[in-house]
Amino acid sequence: MSVMCREVVENIIGYIESELDGETLRDLEAHLHECPECLEFVNTYKKMLEMAGKLRERSFVSPEVREKLKKVLQSKLKSSSHLET
Ligand SMILES: [Zn+2]
Repeated sequence: MSVMCREVVENIIGYIESELDGETLRDLEAHLHECPECLEFVNTYKKMLEMAGKLRERSFVSPEVREKLKKVLQSKLKSSSHLET
């Protein structure tokens, strides 16, 4: 797994909620352009939020939900062999 792939996981919530600073956002988006796995990762995350009804409401995502989603994504990333090469 590359350092940037890890960065994406760490910052995905901030990315989706547009809370990242300019530099982090630029690095992350640059990586998404060259890493289909991470792009899919972001899309999967968005879908999860939509299913939870959070994105549509544009309401505050509770820390509890954030942590839960982050754990799910991190375990997914760990078990995902194509990112370990
Ligand atoms: Zn990546």
